[in-house]
Amino acid sequence: MINVGAPSDLERLAGLLSATGPTMELRSPMTGTRIGELPTSTPADVIAAADRARSAQTAWGERPVEERAELLLAYHDAVLDHRDALIDLVQTGGGKARISATEEVLHVALTARYYGRTARRYLHPERGSGLIPILTRVERHYVPKGLVGVIGPWNYPLTMAISDGLAALVAGNAVLLKPDQQTPLVALAAVELLHSVGLEPALWPVVHGEGGVVGPQVIDVSDYVCFTGSTATGRKVAAQCAERLIGCSLELGGKNPSLVLDDADPETAAEGVVRACFSNAGQLCVATERIYVAEPVREAFTRAFVRRTEALRLGATLDYQSDLAGLINPDQLERVSRHVEDARTKGATVLTGGRVRPDLGELFYEPTVLTGVTPGMACYAEETFGPVVSLYAVADDDEAVARANDSEYGLNGSVWTSDPERGRRVATRLRCGTVNVNEGFAATFGSLDAPMGGMKNSGLGRRQGQDGIRRFVEVQSIATQTGLPIAPSHGLSPRSFTTAMTAVMRVLKRAGRA
Ligand code: NAD
Repeated sequence: MINVGAPSDLERLAGLLSATGPTMELRSPMTGTRIGELPTSTPADVIAAADRARSAQTAWGERPVEERAELLLAYHDAVLDHRDALIDLVQTGGGKARISATEEVLHVALTARYYGRTARRYLHPERGSGLIPILTRVERHYVPKGLVGVIGPWNYPLTMAISDGLAALVAGNAVLLKPDQQTPLVALAAVELLHSVGLEPALWPVVHGEGGVVGPQVIDVSDYVCFTGSTATGRKVAAQCAERLIGCSLELGGKNPSLVLDDADPETAAEGVVRACFSNAGQLCVATERIYVAEPVREAFTRAFVRRTEALRLGATLDYQSDLAGLINPDQLERVSRHVEDARTKGATVLTGGRVRPDLGELFYEPTVLTGVTPGMACYAEETFGPVVSLYAVADDDEAVARANDSEYGLNGSVWTSDPERGRRVATRLRCGTVNVNEGFAATFGSLDAPMGGMKNSGLGRRQGQDGIRRFVEVQSIATQTGLPIAPSHGLSPRSFTTAMTAVMRVLKRAGRA
């Protein structure tokens, strides 16, 4: 298994790419050092990879779903067996703290187990009710789309590159993966691990290169596209898919609210909301960037929240001694600094943080808590995608819900309360695809039975659960008619047929049939 310290490992992983074009340099965001270089994919490489994948898909799609599911269950074990090597790679390639890297590796294994165990249930043909009971038999079949293009982001470079593909694969598809150009190595290692449990390599080719160049080429050859990334790019992907009349799922950005209700224990809520805000240095689509805290607990919560934020340990260490690492690249650092400076100069108060930390590494920014943020400031409504959160006091649940919903985004929310029933009631009022009660994001993210995705500008479609696999299949209805045809026949006049059908329909309604 891979250890990218060795040039031979890099060479082996490069060999897994469908890429014969010019090379692109790779740097570790963790250390700033050069990892090496990888070839990029030309248009001909993308087309050839797609052709090979399509050929392999025919036989794969015909295999019983139980056999395909076995591969995922074997992969679950392989991922756990290689856990530490994968975590190392996520850290060095993606520049994140070890605990955030660990979440990714576990999420891949969870996904493999979940779809390994449930695919049969979700994909097995189902009987429906036919037009005329007994005479009309209806079945719904779930047919693979064919070739699913997966385009992933850099912030969760392992699980966002692999987990959706696992669902697509077990549904009988081939997968054409384009990881983010900054973080391809861990995706390649994870695909190599799939080969080790028996996946035919042609079924899951990987291409590499600039998103605006290779991404559209992937969409051009795919039958369905699963995209995770920014809302701006998501719009382009959707437009290209619309042009080709193919479906897509879009997992996009967020400006996620946490609601601290008046009965919340300030310490417990502060501990959880700190994790919700600063996991992966806030470079997490479901991270909290807005906190609405009820006036009665505002003071105690704010005190606890700032104290716990200040206790976070920053560092570029390959162990669990750091809670936060740096940002992915200089653009991200610039965006985070700009949002904080903009807020500060327009009158916001920095309760803690608000500084770059070159003493720790090139790309470090302190976890930052702001108050007094107003609509004219960039961080009020725009996604910062970094370790910056704004605190707002609210009078009651109604105001908290109204302000939380006052956003173009609707990805994730969380509600903090000592009364879970009340928390769930408030949760149903939020216009977010996922809401966690007394947890920031891990309860939905880690529960594979919970579909995840965005409302409003946060996306289309859902990953996880039944929705997460059914998006990768076409529904084919097969109806078989026996006995009488559905038309006047056997000497029945059209008028008598109409009378008979009307009588049948009245009886069926009385019998409670759909
Ligand atoms: P991005 O949109 O810049 O890039 C995402 C991917 O798209 C990359 O692989 C990139 O190479 C590719 N790409 C770029 N231009 C393309 C084009 N024209 N056509 C096709 N592909 C193209 O996003 P990012 O900066 O890498 O990721 C951060 C964003 O992703 C944040 O907004 C974050 O909230 C979001 N995100 C969402 C989820 C989710 O599940 N909702 C998860 C992770 C990240």
